[in-house]
Amino acid sequence: MATDVIFFGAPGAGKGTQAQILSSQYGYRQMSTGDLLRENRERGTDLGNAAESYMQRGELVPDDLIVEMVKEHLPTAAGVIFDGFPRTIEQAKSLDALLEALGRGLPHAIYFYVPRSTLEERLLGRWTNPRTGRVYHERFNPPKHDRRDDDDGGPLIQREDDKPDIVHHRLDVFERQTMPLIKYYDETASGRYLKIDASQPILTVTGELLGALERRSSPWLKTS
Ligand code: ADP
Ligand code: ADP
Repeated sequence: MATDVIFFGAPGAGKGTQAQILSSQYGYRQMSTGDLLRENRERGTDLGNAAESYMQRGELVPDDLIVEMVKEHLPTAAGVIFDGFPRTIEQAKSLDALLEALGRGLPHAIYFYVPRSTLEERLLGRWTNPRTGRVYHERFNPPKHDRRDDDDGGPLIQREDDKPDIVHHRLDVFERQTMPLIKYYDETASGRYLKIDASQPILTVTGELLGALERRSSPWLKTS
């Protein structure tokens, strides 16, 4: 049976990159709250307008807005990769309740661990296709043609919140508001929680994720 999986970790840990690989090649469906918020901002919806100032400052958007948005976009079948959600204990509890109410079992949770100095290097060199959310890195994962997307040829941009001041703040926000999830999942999701070393090369991380997802019917190893 397909399983819902949470990818959580600092900005720049590689969640989107891996979610994109697993959804394009292995049948998962990626649900990125960051991408959904940016789409709403582009379309000028009430949600996009409400979220804008938080995103610009590198703060988390309030939990009630995020949970409402997830409810609205949640695919009906399991097999979803939640990319960048939950980011607070409140969001994690809401997701557990939502999935239980739908009778589809609790999600597996994977923590992408990467040291802070590496995260900064990754975020400052990240280039994004604003239309699709696909990401590249100027050195670690460059596009075939300079600043053009491999698939649609569209221009790649540097996100405003990937500039130095905001990057440092976002990493602080992660440590303060999202790191408590490590303890939450360790305690509440025993056997469904895994920490991976996401500082390894992209395809090595993909291999570890696929191995873990294949073993998901037996309890996952705890490596914390
Ligand atoms: P990254 O991939 O670098 O972690 P995201 O694209 O996931 O960044 O998020 C960009 C911004 O969108 C965040 O800084 C935050 O303002 C907002 N955001 C995204 N997901 C959430 C969430 N689950 N809870 C609160 N805010 C969120
Ligand atoms: P997140 O979604 O967790 O914020 P991304 O997937 O957007 O992270 O990755 C952040 C940046 O780091 C991107 O520029 C991406 O190309 C690059 N990246 C992702 N995974 C790796 C990796 N394993 N090794 C080196 N660079 C990576």
